[in-house]
Amino acid sequence: MLIAAATAALGLSALAAPAPHAIAQLSEADGITLAATPTPTPARAAATKASSYRFSSLLDGQPVRWNPCAPLHWRSNTARGPAGGLAVLKESVARIGQLTGTTWVYDGTSTAAPNTAYLPTTAPTVDKPVLLGWTDATSSDLLRGRPQQVLAMTRTVWFGMDDGAGHRAAAIRAAVVALDRTDKLPLRGATSWSATTLHELGHVMGLDHPSDAQQLMAATLPRGVSDLQAGDRTGLTKLGRAAGCVVIPGA
Ligand SMILES: [Zn+2]
Repeated sequence: MLIAAATAALGLSALAAPAPHAIAQLSEADGITLAATPTPTPARAAATKASSYRFSSLLDGQPVRWNPCAPLHWRSNTARGPAGGLAVLKESVARIGQLTGTTWVYDGTSTAAPNTAYLPTTAPTVDKPVLLGWTDATSSDLLRGRPQQVLAMTRTVWFGMDDGAGHRAAAIRAAVVALDRTDKLPLRGATSWSATTLHELGHVMGLDHPSDAQQLMAATLPRGVSDLQAGDRTGLTKLGRAAGCVVIPGA
């Protein structure tokens, strides 16, 4: 979904060249679903190669990602979650930090509900911490109206600049993860809160669902899988520190 791109007032309207302007996009909410029936194992020698990772947003052919050279701050809202939930969130964040080469700073608990209203609508001067927490369809628009099998939803927003001369740059600047407290899952292992949180953090970093159903980023949580798989990890590497810093000129 595209939100209105706010045009920055730069006092350059008399110039013939297009003025630089701000660009922004709110992601489609991406979630994960619990498999209702066992997923069949795909044939090894499938004729078509399933994609093992996919990016949520591309800008001029490049994946939109956080600036991995700056620390990412995050907060938790576990008041309505399972006992031991905070430890699972911390472990999952540490795993994502390890796989992307990014530094995550825990800013403590939050009472904010993980919903779209938490996200800024204009480019923030200082990034709001990523919010991860347990909520329900009554408190969060991200879970409202979703099928029962949906375990969690994530929404991100990116902001950037278009210099009016064909160069565009953007970075993810905020994200919120809503875990559905009405689902009863074990904390760790396959089909767990840990696996669900890792999947959602993959969305936070900029990954979409691949067609390969055996990756942890698949739209339906693969059975027996408790950690990010090879394709997931390849995608995360391309979004992380190894891919260089993200600099937005003029932002
Ligand atoms: Zn998902």
